[in-house]
Amino acid sequence: MKNAIHYRIIPVDPCAHLFAITLTLEMPDPEGQVFQLPAWIPGSYMLREFARNIVEIKAEAIAEVKAPVKTQVKAEVNVDAEVKANPGAQVVVLTKLDKHTWRAAPCAGPLRLQYQVYAWDLSVRTAHLDQNHAFFNSSSVFLRVLGQEQLPHLVDLRRPFGSAYKNWRVATALPELSARRYGFGSYRASNYDELIDHPVEMGQFALATFNAHGVAHDLVISGLIPNLDLERVCGDVQKICASQIALFEPDSRRAPMARYVFLIFVVGEGYGGLEHRASCALLCERNSFPVLDQPKMSDGYRSFLGLCSHEYFHTWNVKRIKPAAFAPYDLQQENYTRLLWWFEGVTSYYDDLILARSGVIDQAAFLASIAKTINSVLRGSGRHKQSVAESSFDAWTKYYRQDENASNAIVSYYTKGSLVALALDLTIRLCSDGKKSLDDVLRLLWQRHGRDFYAIDKGALGVSENELLALFDAATGLKLARTIRRYVHGTADLPLARLLAQVGVEYADQRADTLVGLGMRSVVVGADCKVAAVYVGGVAHLAGLSAGDVLVALDDLRITGANLKDLLARYRPGDSVTLHAFRRDELKTFSMLLKADDAPQVTLKALLKPAVALKRRRAWLDI
Ligand code: ZN
Repeated sequence: MKNAIHYRIIPVDPCAHLFAITLTLEMPDPEGQVFQLPAWIPGSYMLREFARNIVEIKAEAIAEVKAPVKTQVKAEVNVDAEVKANPGAQVVVLTKLDKHTWRAAPCAGPLRLQYQVYAWDLSVRTAHLDQNHAFFNSSSVFLRVLGQEQLPHLVDLRRPFGSAYKNWRVATALPELSARRYGFGSYRASNYDELIDHPVEMGQFALATFNAHGVAHDLVISGLIPNLDLERVCGDVQKICASQIALFEPDSRRAPMARYVFLIFVVGEGYGGLEHRASCALLCERNSFPVLDQPKMSDGYRSFLGLCSHEYFHTWNVKRIKPAAFAPYDLQQENYTRLLWWFEGVTSYYDDLILARSGVIDQAAFLASIAKTINSVLRGSGRHKQSVAESSFDAWTKYYRQDENASNAIVSYYTKGSLVALALDLTIRLCSDGKKSLDDVLRLLWQRHGRDFYAIDKGALGVSENELLALFDAATGLKLARTIRRYVHGTADLPLARLLAQVGVEYADQRADTLVGLGMRSVVVGADCKVAAVYVGGVAHLAGLSAGDVLVALDDLRITGANLKDLLARYRPGDSVTLHAFRRDELKTFSMLLKADDAPQVTLKALLKPAVALKRRRAWLDI
C-alpha cells in the first residue's frame, strides 16, 4: 500500500521477553524524521514512559521497500537475515531528543527502524511475553511517525521461531489485511490512533464466539482454567452486551463496532481491565470463573461479569463519547479533564445496573453492590476534601498514585462518581414523574457526541463540561445544572437515603455501637499484622500509630496477622488498652482509649410498599 507505515513485530525471544520490531516508511521528513512512543495509554491516566522498555534501536536508509508479506511466514525464517539482505542499506544516525523521542538524520528514504522492546509487565496496560503467550498494546511497542499519523498503518504479526509455537494463534480486533481470522500475517489500521486502540494476544487460547444484535463477539481466554464452564460465561456476557446495545440504540439495535473481542488473561492473583474501541483487555483471577456443573453465582464471577460490563460500556462512553480533552489525545503528557466522574463513574453505575437489567444478577445482589460502594465512599474523610471534579482533574498524580493517606485526602471518581450517577438518575426519574431517566441523557449524548466519532473527521467532537450540563436539561426538560454542580463540585454527602426511599429501598446504617474499632486498615505480612492505613480522627490516629507499624501486643497478648479482631472483641468502647508496635525496628508503646467502630455498615433493602415506589423501582431496574 503506497505511503503506508509498515510495522513488523515478532516475539523474537520469549524467554528474554523481547519483541523485535521493524518500522518502515517510504517518505521520511526531509528535515529529519522524528519518532515517538506514547508516554501513557488512554484509559489509564498516569504517565508510564513506555519508551524505557526499548532495549536497542537503529535506523537505516534502504534502497527499496519490500512488499508486505501476504501469507504466513514459515517459522524458520530469520528476520535479521531477511532485513540484512538489503544490499543498498545505509546506516542513518538516530539522535535521542528526550525520554521517548528520536530523530533520524535526513535521508532520502525509504527509512527503516529496527528495535527491541522488553515485555514483562503483567498488566493490561503494556506488554507481556513468555513461552506461554504474547500480549501487547501497540502504544507500548510501535513508535509513532510524527507528521504521518493519518496514513494507513500496516502491521505484520509474526509467529515466534521454533516448533513450540506452531499452534499459536492471534486474537485482536485489528482488521485483517491479508491475514486470516486468528492467523498470523498482515493487519491494517486507518491511522496511528486506530493502531494503538487494538491490543493483540498471541498464544494458545480458549475461544468462544457469540452474537449480540448481529455482531460477532469473541471471548478469548489465555491461561489455565480446569473445567471452565465457558458456555455459561458466553451466555451471561451475551446478555450484558445485548442489553447495552439496546440501551444506546433502542430502535436500530446497532452496535457501534463491526466485531468485538474480549481478551482475557487468567492469573492466580490480579485484577484489571482496559477499554478499547472494539475490544478490551482483562486480567482476571482463575477462581472468578465458573466450574462446570456448579451453577452458584460466586462473588468472584459476579465481579468478573461486572468488569466485562464496565469495559464494554466504555465502547460508547469514553471510546466514542469523549471529554473534549481527549479529542484528540495528547499522548506525550497529562490530558486534564474534570469529567472522569462521568466517564468512569457513570460507567461504574451502569456496569452493575446492566447486570441487574439483563437478569444476570438479582435485585438483592444489585442493591448489595450499591451498599458496598456507599460504604467504601463513606469510609474515607477524603470525600469532604476533594470533589469528584477535582479527583478527575488530579487523576494523574493522586488517584493513580495513591499512598497510605489516600482515604484521608482524596475521593474516587469511580465510586463516588457512580453514586453521583445514581443520585442523578433517581432525581431525574422523580422530577419527571418517571418519564425520563439518565438513560435519556446518555442516549442524547451518544447521538450528539459519540455515534459519528470515527465516521467523520470533525476534530473536536468531544464534550465539554458545560455542554454536558446543557445536555442534561435538553434530554430531560428539567433544570438540573445547580444540582449537578453541587454533587460534582461539592464535597457534601449525597442525599441517597432520601432518593432511594422514593424507589422503595430502605437505607440503614447499622454500625454496632458495642464493637470497638481501631480506625485503621491492616494487612497480614507473614505472621505479622501491619498497619496499612490510618483513618484521621480514629483511635489509631489519636494514639499515634502510623502506616507501616507492625502490631506486637494488645495488653500484653501477642497480636498475629489473624487474631486482632478476636482480641478487640473482649473490649468495649471507653476501655483503655496498651498496645506495643514496632516502628521500623524500634519498639513503641501506645496508650489507647477505645471507641466504637465507626466503619459505615450501610445496608439497602427492597420494600414491597408503597405501590408507587415499587412501580418506580421496577421501571428503574427494568423488571
Ligand atoms: Zn473504566
